[in-house]
Amino acid sequence: MSFLFAFINYKTNIMNIKNVTVIGTGVLGTQIAYQIAFCGYKVTVYDVTQKNLDNAKVRFKELGEIYKKDIAATNEQVDFAISNISYSLDLAEAVKDADLTSESIPESLDIKKDFYTQLSKVAKPDAIFTTNSSTLLPSKMAGSVEKPERFLALHFANNIWKQNIGEVMGHAGTDPKIFNAVLDFAKSIRMVPIAIHKEQPGYIVNSLQVPFLNAAIDLYAGGVADPETIDKTWMIGLNAVKGPFASIDIIGLTTLYNVTKLRAESGDEKAAIAVQVLKDNFIDKNKLGIATGEGFYKYPNPRYMDPDFLK
Ligand code: NAD
Repeated sequence: MSFLFAFINYKTNIMNIKNVTVIGTGVLGTQIAYQIAFCGYKVTVYDVTQKNLDNAKVRFKELGEIYKKDIAATNEQVDFAISNISYSLDLAEAVKDADLTSESIPESLDIKKDFYTQLSKVAKPDAIFTTNSSTLLPSKMAGSVEKPERFLALHFANNIWKQNIGEVMGHAGTDPKIFNAVLDFAKSIRMVPIAIHKEQPGYIVNSLQVPFLNAAIDLYAGGVADPETIDKTWMIGLNAVKGPFASIDIIGLTTLYNVTKLRAESGDEKAAIAVQVLKDNFIDKNKLGIATGEGFYKYPNPRYMDPDFLK
């Protein structure tokens, strides 16, 4: 009986997350902060310059409009989200009440390690630290965290409000209770929590997606078929709404180009050919995907959305 009481008490304590600090207010940090505030938590956002915080404020307004359009959010919900957000340029001030932190700073191991050393000095002793890093494994950063058992990844997808997965992945030293608490937290902010039980570069989504996109690039650059034919084949054959090249346009050609360059540098001959094809036909011509109005398709009305495309 007393064990049960202790357990319930522990669970209540561990899930007593009220205040969240989001570190870094770039592409993903703003989305994460807004989503968490939208779900009723008090959120402090922290970045290194006032300009970034000012930009974040503008972005939150834009996200409100997007939420109204995409998920039928009401004016009250949007105002509520904004009212839950405060801003800080001082790390110690930003995290003084944080029960959980969500970090979205640049994808550099040195920057992240340095940040976690600083954060460990000023955060509450029982705070949970989460990273949104897409490619750096938690175990690579855990050595810079004072309480590594309270550190793990909570990884979001771009367009968090509709592509709402929260991939939760610890390192070998993460406390299982913290892992479960973060799964619960992810659910509470309307993510579908995805438990990843072993460190895996790329989590689940990118472990599946990256080889798929690499294969598409190699088929095209190797002269096997053109991008529209490859997309069409995938869409009809797998009953999919879009093919790999439509996805690359969304992600951005620059990212795919960088990934292909890394593959080429590791000795992959197909990738070496693909690097040149991508550079000559897309990168040098500023056809970088939706962001520049053209990539493999022209926007706003890409061919793959044409009803005749699959005929
Ligand atoms: P971004 O460049 O848009 O934003 C990074 C922000 O961090 C900037 O506002 C920058 O000023 C700030 N920053 C830099 N150093 C800082 C520090 N020491 N303390 C606080 N803030 C600092 O980057 P992003 O695309 O939002 O990516 C951030 C993280 O999220 C990366 O780890 C990335 O892997 C991950 N992620 C990105 C995406 C994506 O689609 N962009 C998706 C999932 C995960």
